Amino acid sequence: MERNCVIIGAGLGGLSCGAVLARHGFKVTVLEQESHAGGCLQTFVRDGVRFETGMHFIGSAGRGELLDSLLRFLGIRGGLELHELDHDGYDIITYKGQDYPFRNGRDAFIEGLAEHFPGQKDNLVRYMDTVYKASAASSVESFNPARVMDSNDTVWHTRSVDSVIDGIVDDADLREILAGNQPLYAGVKGHTPFSLHAFITSFYNRSAWRIAGGSDNIARLLIERITCAGGSIKIGCKAVEIVCDETKATGVKFIVDGVEQMMDADYVISTIHPALTVGMVHSPLLRPAYKKRIQQLPDTIGVFELYLKFKTNTVPYMNANRFVYESGSVWGCDSYTTDDWPRGYLYMHQWPQGDSRYADAGVILAYMRNDELAAWTDTLTGRRGDDYREFKKRKAEKLLAVAAKRFPELGDGLERYYTSTPLTYRDYTGAVGGGLYGIAKDIELGQSGRVSYRTRVGNLFLAGQSVNSHGIMGVLVGSMVVCDSILGNGILYDEIIKASK
Ligand SMILES: Cc1cc2nc3c(=O)[nH]c(=O)nc-3n(C[C@H](O)[C@H](O)[C@H](O)COP(=O)(O)OP(=O)(O)OC[C@H]3O[C@@H](n4cnc5c(N)ncnc54)[C@H](O)[C@@H]3O)c2cc1C
Repeated sequence: MERNCVIIGAGLGGLSCGAVLARHGFKVTVLEQESHAGGCLQTFVRDGVRFETGMHFIGSAGRGELLDSLLRFLGIRGGLELHELDHDGYDIITYKGQDYPFRNGRDAFIEGLAEHFPGQKDNLVRYMDTVYKASAASSVESFNPARVMDSNDTVWHTRSVDSVIDGIVDDADLREILAGNQPLYAGVKGHTPFSLHAFITSFYNRSAWRIAGGSDNIARLLIERITCAGGSIKIGCKAVEIVCDETKATGVKFIVDGVEQMMDADYVISTIHPALTVGMVHSPLLRPAYKKRIQQLPDTIGVFELYLKFKTNTVPYMNANRFVYESGSVWGCDSYTTDDWPRGYLYMHQWPQGDSRYADAGVILAYMRNDELAAWTDTLTGRRGDDYREFKKRKAEKLLAVAAKRFPELGDGLERYYTSTPLTYRDYTGAVGGGLYGIAKDIELGQSGRVSYRTRVGNLFLAGQSVNSHGIMGVLVGSMVVCDSILGNGILYDEIIKASK
């Protein structure tokens, strides 16, 4: 008998779950509140240029690497055009005015930084070995959270990024530089677990890539997989309640064109922010204490994003990501004041649409706290008023002025810019508070800071960036874990291995 699965949210989490289950004979329906699917995989077009809003680069997509295997397993690798970032500096950390490239591969990474810190070579070896060891132990790499971890493995979840690095490296500047990619996980000193840093660092250290044409291609290809297998994506459908009987979920209520409807379900997977999901369950199966815990978990900080349109054939394409720190530390960029904002920023070019020697678009991201946006919290995109426009303009001009000192092309080569704030993300993706990567991982909270993919409602599962981990790999692994749990017998694991060959 055909089993039916209703999935809430058509971002990477929802679409990847949908693609897998549809292929395995489930009748899949994905509900999406927005007028188009993709979530953080959305792009937008202005003046003929397509801008990436969320996923700017991906890692481990070389033949046989972990993400490559997952993309092949999902049946979407062939439809993606990927371009590798510079091996000699996929990420470049600018700290105290000096550039420090991260090179691809364990040995090249060590050699590259040892050129600047010759006395730290042995420590760099220990650091990279620790990074690879910790990432190999993570649920992300094993795509199995049930994996039994020995005490050495779990230690990486309970110690912060900075404390582990400090325990290995004794040069104060090198300690900072090694943590210079922290915007990729919105790191907070003393709070973010080393395991997250290790997984992200090794993920990109293996190989780093841009997606030609934009990350919405991933959404488009996954939607094709779902619809080819008989599933459907229902756009403009906002889920409002997960209906349960005494033991399980029986369906999802949603609003479409102002009218409430109900869809029956054998399984429900919610890929939206867990705080929103638990708020939709009115059954005593979810205890108030559990709901309260989930709703009180801290979120990652949001960003102010500056989308840059360059003059035609003027700005040479930069095949690296630039992490620039203007203050004396890579940490604490979220504790800025009006005067010293931005303490740090991330500047990237998109893969060019035309002549690949020149960039047509780029982006600069800098942390932005919600207290700066308090005046507009209750407003919606496009209706926030002139003072909001003025605020964004002030911020954009300040960010540009700071960045143009290091990157002169931002003066001469810029034709136009567009902006977004955490409120934009909140309104377009349902991200609570507009946070970058959903719920923050925090060693202080221990196990109570984690969100399990299982719930006490037997057939209700949670996926998406707040559950396992964020980013393309974190979300896909979370989806695989959920689908494997529904399908049983570890068959997905075998299929992924087969796809990697
Ligand atoms: C600025 C930025 C840059 C990033 N850069 C990278 C990068 O370079 N590389 C990388 O790997 N990752 C990056 N990420 C992270 C990555 O994009 C996300 O982790 C991932 O795409 C999240 O997918 P998701 O499905 O969990 O959530 P989302 O993409 O947020 O999808 C959730 C979907 O659910 C919908 N929804 C919400 N509520 C409801 C409801 N009640 N009913 C129906 N639908 C609902 C939303 O509209 C949305 O479409 C970046 C993220 C941001 C914000």
